[in-house]
Amino acid sequence: MQPLTSRSKTVERKPMTMWEKMYVPAIAKGMSITFGHMFKKKPTVNYPEKTRPFSPVFRGLHVLNRDEEGRERCTACGLCAVACPAEAITMDAAERLPGEENLYREEKYAAKYEINMLRCIFCGLCEEACPKDAIYLSETFAPSNYGRSKFIYGKEELLIPNPKTQPEEFAKAKGNK
Ligand code: SF4
Ligand code: SF4
Repeated sequence: MQPLTSRSKTVERKPMTMWEKMYVPAIAKGMSITFGHMFKKKPTVNYPEKTRPFSPVFRGLHVLNRDEEGRERCTACGLCAVACPAEAITMDAAERLPGEENLYREEKYAAKYEINMLRCIFCGLCEEACPKDAIYLSETFAPSNYGRSKFIYGKEELLIPNPKTQPEEFAKAKGNK
């Protein structure tokens, strides 16, 4: 029969030898590959005791930032929500009252700020859109959970610790951001 291409090969079905019928060469070849891997560097790590270093551009869980005086930076301008391609951010704005200057940096602040982590694709556009350096993506994960509602993070989960009252926790959350 005329071959369809010039690269086609005729497959030969040679009868198996005695050795091949006993699978000795195949077993020896398989064992040599297994033993070879015993002396190679392990590609796995003992997670969670050990973790791999993150890439410098890794984008994890969001953090709502405070300034050096511990005041919330977010002014509820909504630019992050507009920039978000997954429509994962919702917020309610409120006006700062007299006497709250030590809590909120601007005259307007986010009384409610929520991110739906099941919608989020961790693109980082909210961080880029923010004019107040009020949100950034950290090097942590959203922990697993059984309920979908637990993946809607509010201000309690997102706000960074206060640098004045919890300086160690603040530095840890800040990392190299
Ligand atoms: S990281 Fe991207 S998808 Fe997630 S909240 Fe920010 S803008 Fe939206
Ligand atoms: S996080 Fe930034 S962009 Fe988003 S509402 Fe607050 S100030 Fe505006």
